[in-house]
Amino acid sequence: MPLFKTNAIVIRSLNYGESDKIITFFTTDFGRLKGIAKGARRSRKRFQNALGLFSHLRLIFFDKEGMGLVRAESCDILHSFPKIKEDLKKILYGNYYLELVNEMAGEREENREAFELLLSFLSNLESTEPQEEQLRLFEIRMLSLFGYHPNMKRCELCKRDWEDLKECPTVFFSFEKGTMVCERCSKAWNHLVPFSLGTARLIEKVSQLELPKIQRLRFTLQALSESREILPKFINYQLGKEMKSLKALRGIEANLSSHLPLSPGGRGTG
Ligand SMILES: [Zn+2]
Repeated sequence: MPLFKTNAIVIRSLNYGESDKIITFFTTDFGRLKGIAKGARRSRKRFQNALGLFSHLRLIFFDKEGMGLVRAESCDILHSFPKIKEDLKKILYGNYYLELVNEMAGEREENREAFELLLSFLSNLESTEPQEEQLRLFEIRMLSLFGYHPNMKRCELCKRDWEDLKECPTVFFSFEKGTMVCERCSKAWNHLVPFSLGTARLIEKVSQLELPKIQRLRFTLQALSESREILPKFINYQLGKEMKSLKALRGIEANLSSHLPLSPGGRGTG
């Protein structure tokens, strides 16, 4: 059986039988790859506890025919992201990143940019406090990288662009068509949500910017609330399902905010 090497991030990990694990990896060279790690729960030598969620590793695997499960032979940990695993909010953010990749990535379809993006967001989560912008930035970039890029540049129907629409800054988004329409044309379609031209421009900007620059972007409160209304629902619509980890995150956040006083010097000056 041919032997392969690649860098990988563990995006799902399930115990299987007495001592094995079924792992879904997101890899630099093969995109999403599902494999079995025989004896992973016994053999510390070969897998060094490397197969937990979020682990970034150098993977060696056997592949019979380029079909079905590969057989993980060994792996060396590059980053285990211990601080993510110690903090409930970080775990929830990280789980959402992994779930999005797992749902969007094609089996054995290489997407190096998406790999670099996931690694960069995990590294950022490891070293900084989770901020809601991060979720939205990740969603925007992943939508683009996996071919779901929404049209935020001009009205889909009359083709007027940002410049032409300056006078009427409220526009609408169609989840079904993944596009913006202007107020005048909005009568033609159903199931639209209103949002501002400013947020449309921001989403477009985020999808174009170089990776190192996007981590520093801050949203206004309006952009944050509008993008929260649009992006997760657009993803649900495109994938035909709700992301479980985002639902869990929202549940925990609602719970926390009902027990903690609002801090006056907190975020939101955007
Ligand atoms: Zn229009």
